[in-house]
Amino acid sequence: MSRIAYVNGQYLPHNHATVHIEDRGYQFADGVYEVIPIVMGKMIDENGHLDRLWRSMEELQIDEPMKRRPLQLVMQEVLRQNGVDTGLIYIQVTRGVSRRDHPFPAGAVSSLVMTAKKTSLEKSEKKAEEGVAVITVPDIRWKRRDIKSVSLLPNVLAKQEAVEKGAYEAFQVDEDGLVTEGSSTNAWIVNKEGVLITRQTDHNILAGITRAALLELLEKKGIKFELRAFSEDELHDAREVFLTSSSSYVQPVIKVNDKMIGNGQPGSISIELRGVFKEYMEN
Ligand code: PMP
Repeated sequence: MSRIAYVNGQYLPHNHATVHIEDRGYQFADGVYEVIPIVMGKMIDENGHLDRLWRSMEELQIDEPMKRRPLQLVMQEVLRQNGVDTGLIYIQVTRGVSRRDHPFPAGAVSSLVMTAKKTSLEKSEKKAEEGVAVITVPDIRWKRRDIKSVSLLPNVLAKQEAVEKGAYEAFQVDEDGLVTEGSSTNAWIVNKEGVLITRQTDHNILAGITRAALLELLEKKGIKFELRAFSEDELHDAREVFLTSSSSYVQPVIKVNDKMIGNGQPGSISIELRGVFKEYMEN
């Protein structure tokens, strides 16, 4: 089945799907996006993702390209036309096309693009069983990381450094030596005392939908956690480390920079929480 993309009202063959050269997303990264997982035909946390998309648009005063309900119908159609049963849907909204000039253009119409791709649960499962390595990098981003903007250059550079060092992800560290989040994931530790910790949400990190869903599951199960920033030292000394995201779900980390975490195998709490999240997605 060939891939199909949705571009401003049209379903086009992926290879021929294009936007105008003066789209402000292209010229100024003046746009926002969402990535939503689909697992065995079921969209995971659709409402959370769409709430966050609308919040991002509102924060940047980008007009909604269409109402929520029709947008959901386009999502369904993109999934259907791409035959995605397990995978990811990508939604991007930009401020639209206008002669290049920094201020918001009068009368520009928001652009809406959607694509979908298949992913493999088996591959994800294998990665989780093995665990992955992360590196740490300075967080050089702007101060509104809560907005899911397509302006991702620091994240791209961080991930590239991770790849070059044979790691899966880069955890970013702020000026105070505190871990903010991964380049496209949220960071969690189980510290030396056995306390489960992930950073509180504010302007410094993206409020991950997977993070929020897992926190809710923890509450339901009566598993305690702390919402606070942890330091790079705490990360290195942690008993367990894992990360969460829409594409990685709950992914155990077994190495941070040159330091093995625990005994170099995915930790028991990380494995348990991956299982808890998997059950949540599958039911
Ligand atoms: N932080 C950043 C910077 C991200 O790009 C992502 C991926 N969207 C996440 C965290 C994880 O968020 P989610 O669980 O909603 O995918």
